[in-house]
Amino acid sequence: MNIIVCIKQVPNVTKVKWDADGSLIRTGLPTIINPVDKNAVEAALQLKEQHGGKVTVISMGPSQVESALREALCMGVDDVIQLSDRKFAGADTWATSYTLGAAIKKIADFDLVITGVEAMDGNTAQVGPQIAEYLGLPLLSYALGIEVDGKNVRIKQKLGDVSRKLEAAMPALITVEKEINDYRVTPIDKVIDAFDKDIPVWGVDDVPADVVHLGLKGSPTKLRKVYSPKLEKGQVEMLQGTPEEIARQLVDKLNAKFLI
Ligand code: FAD
Repeated sequence: MNIIVCIKQVPNVTKVKWDADGSLIRTGLPTIINPVDKNAVEAALQLKEQHGGKVTVISMGPSQVESALREALCMGVDDVIQLSDRKFAGADTWATSYTLGAAIKKIADFDLVITGVEAMDGNTAQVGPQIAEYLGLPLLSYALGIEVDGKNVRIKQKLGDVSRKLEAAMPALITVEKEINDYRVTPIDKVIDAFDKDIPVWGVDDVPADVVHLGLKGSPTKLRKVYSPKLEKGQVEMLQGTPEEIARQLVDKLNAKFLI
């Protein structure tokens, strides 16, 4: 079975510093593979060990994503593809998903796409589901376990207090939680191979994508301001009425602040 895993390179936000305006200081920030994406790679490698096939990892970003892809090679994946082009820059989650989806379309021969649930910097959890939507694939999200049975794939999903099993025909897209596995320590023999391998770089002319949907131009999201929320202490409002009236007031207030 052929599996494509999407990994994102992220700033190591455990070492993050903010400037006075509340903006992230990116200069000198070390980068890492988004941690849950390593669990996604591990899940794919385990499925390959059980069922055979091939694991391909793709990542979109500037030239530095090469180091994330080499790390994936060290873990034992078969192929990696780097998506880098100035026209991809400034992409919001919509344009990112479109570009990754176009690359997956080009790879064409796959049974599963696996992504992490969310990136530790952007945290929207939108990219996996949006790729599934773009490619018309069934989406199995928040996976804590994956089983392949013939032409179908089954996941164990836990959302809050509810656990359930979901099944879909392949090809399908799965987003995984970090609890799904412990990813492997890099086997030393793979490190040498990983640094010998040429990494293909796909740009705008290499993917079946319309340039108007790429990068900043193709991004409907407009970022107005980034700031650290200030804690408002001591501002408590008690709602009055029956439980139904209180619930209604609460919903109206949350709605008015665009929180639901
Ligand atoms: P999530 O949806 O939380 O990620 C879920 C999973 O999707 C990840 O675990 C991973 O498996 C996969 N995934 C996510 N991103 C990638 C990727 N790039 N490659 C492979 N797999 C991936 N970011 C920049 O780095 N540079 C910019 O110039 C830039 N400009 C932006 C402009 C605007 C207007 C906006 C709104 C955002 C911009 N961003 C930019 C942020 C960028 O859109 C997000 O980082 C990206 O879309 C992923 O979203 P997320 O971090 O919420 O990922």
